[in-house]
Amino acid sequence: MNINGDAKAACIYDAIVIGSGISGGWAAKELCEKGLKTLVLERGRDVRHIVDYPTATQNPWEFPHRNRMPEAFDQKNPIATKCYALDESTQQFFVKDAEHPYVQEKPFDWIRGYQVGGKSLIWARQTQRWSKFDFEANARDGAAVDWPIRYEDIAPWYSHVEKFVGISGNKDGLETLPDGEFLKPWELNCVEKHIQKRVAEQYKDRHIIIGRCAHLTEPKQIHYDQGRAQCQARHLCYRGCPYGGYFSSNSSTIPWAAKTGKLTLRPDSVVHSIIYDETKGKATGIRVIDTHTKQMTEYYARIIFVNAACLNTNLVLLNSTSKRFPNGLGNDNDLLGRYVAFHNYRGNIVADYEGFEDGYYYGRRPTTAFMPNFRNVRKQEMDFQRGYMVAFSAARSNWHLGASQEGFGAGFKDKLSDPGAWNVFMMMQAETVPRYENHVRLSADQKDAWGIPQLVTSIDYTDNDLKVMKDFLEQGAEMLDKAGCKNIKPYDDHRNPGLDIHEVGGVRMGRDPKTSLLNAHNQLHTVKNVFVTDGAAMTSTGSQNPSITFMALTARAANFAINEMKKGNL
Ligand SMILES: Cc1cc2nc3c(=O)[nH]c(=O)nc-3n(C[C@H](O)[C@H](O)[C@H](O)COP(=O)(O)OP(=O)(O)OC[C@H]3O[C@@H](n4cnc5c(N)ncnc54)[C@H](O)[C@@H]3O)c2cc1C
Ligand code: SF4
Repeated sequence: MNINGDAKAACIYDAIVIGSGISGGWAAKELCEKGLKTLVLERGRDVRHIVDYPTATQNPWEFPHRNRMPEAFDQKNPIATKCYALDESTQQFFVKDAEHPYVQEKPFDWIRGYQVGGKSLIWARQTQRWSKFDFEANARDGAAVDWPIRYEDIAPWYSHVEKFVGISGNKDGLETLPDGEFLKPWELNCVEKHIQKRVAEQYKDRHIIIGRCAHLTEPKQIHYDQGRAQCQARHLCYRGCPYGGYFSSNSSTIPWAAKTGKLTLRPDSVVHSIIYDETKGKATGIRVIDTHTKQMTEYYARIIFVNAACLNTNLVLLNSTSKRFPNGLGNDNDLLGRYVAFHNYRGNIVADYEGFEDGYYYGRRPTTAFMPNFRNVRKQEMDFQRGYMVAFSAARSNWHLGASQEGFGAGFKDKLSDPGAWNVFMMMQAETVPRYENHVRLSADQKDAWGIPQLVTSIDYTDNDLKVMKDFLEQGAEMLDKAGCKNIKPYDDHRNPGLDIHEVGGVRMGRDPKTSLLNAHNQLHTVKNVFVTDGAAMTSTGSQNPSITFMALTARAANFAINEMKKGNL
């Protein structure tokens, strides 16, 4: 009896966090800092900052295949290899297709990073705040349900997160893309500045800015305290940065939480489900499968944060069945897994710019130019719902292709170091409207290596998404034309949903338990000690890169949870 009692006591924590990625790292930091004994469960292996970045300083010729993946790998991994960031230097941080299968009822490219740090190691670090218009959009045009919070509720938490993460950006004073707590911005290059000026002259509502991103352009004491240092503009970030120049859980929140002495990090631990106790009317813990031994263990805590990344969070909750919740935890309304949304990236434009031959730029800037959404912002104006952000960059081409140029000797070598003409690349990041039909559910017959049902993805574009793309392709081409670009080529790359890697929803926040799963503080309406604070909680997608909003929601919910615990409500 005593032995069992001791064993159980060793498994009891104040808080459990499922997932150690961008949002889970933030939950761990906030909870540990406030003194909670916190267990972070991570299905992937441990990745320690610096020591586990084996490729961080390697040159292309030091890789067996010059930093490209061999064809055999691509054939075995048709989904993962679609991600632009996967190459020989980064492949260790991406899930391989065969190891973690799922069922695509409709094509969906699910890009995942299963390791300590999750996708925070391999994200592109763009961090644009949402505006008041984004939180009001559902109420304005009637899509999905109204957000239970507004910009003012989250603004202080954006600031809280930005100061710690370190966000480079310019104070642009735009209502559609609020300013934050910024470090020095990166600079637009001469062609981008030229396009910025021309667009500003011709369109009152279109503003080009330098992208806000999670890079330490001028570290403050709080960043040095994390052991991080100035970004060197190498843009080898997806390999893990030995300087901690960009924000990842591994360089920032996880070691910070560990320093408090309150953190237990358990890698190689797949969360199977959350345990619901009917007599207590709350969740009491979780079931975990060890990836090596395949043994199941239970851990217990007063509060549980689910941060497994949008679709896996849906999976964990759907798999958490009990007599009280036969269809998944908190799923009284059968909406769990529904209203999944994503970003539509299908529209792209390439163009040339003739001129500025004497202009160049310093280093490899790890961000790009952006234009906040200008469609349907204040009222419905177009024949489609919502809008899009535009991202673009201008760069000099050719010289790096020099090896394929003809020639030999000194003249050839000189040509190799000659920058070529300016090229412009533009793409859209469009909001998709959350729909009941776009959903994930558990497979009735297919299981993964741990005996957990596989996820079925049933997510697609709509006519609205095609109309948005058409508008972007016309407007983007027009703007580039007015800026003097040549050879403007708009195209649809026909990519599947998912490759944007910005999936959200399925466990949406709302005011009414009949139509939403979470309340304004990210608590399950019906199981108050379970918090969902990753993308799954999102009631719509906005057109901004989502992760800074996940972080702010997480910090806000964690501090709410701590206060509720103090009051004895949890
Ligand atoms: C190439 C690329 C570029 C991107 N660029 C941007 C960008 O510029 N800006 C932006 O905002 N976002 C970007 N993203 C998206 C961003 O990475 C995600 O939005 C963010 O990581 C989500 O945070 P998260 O905590 O929800 O999930 P993750 O960071 O993915 O972490 C989830 C963690 O949970 C773990 N987990 C899953 N299931 C279980 C389970 N059952 N038990 C235990 N652990 C589990 C996973 O292994 C993982 O470590 C990009 C992503 C990629 C891949
Ligand atoms: S660009 Fe900055 S953050 Fe990225 S790898 Fe280089 S130093 Fe690190």
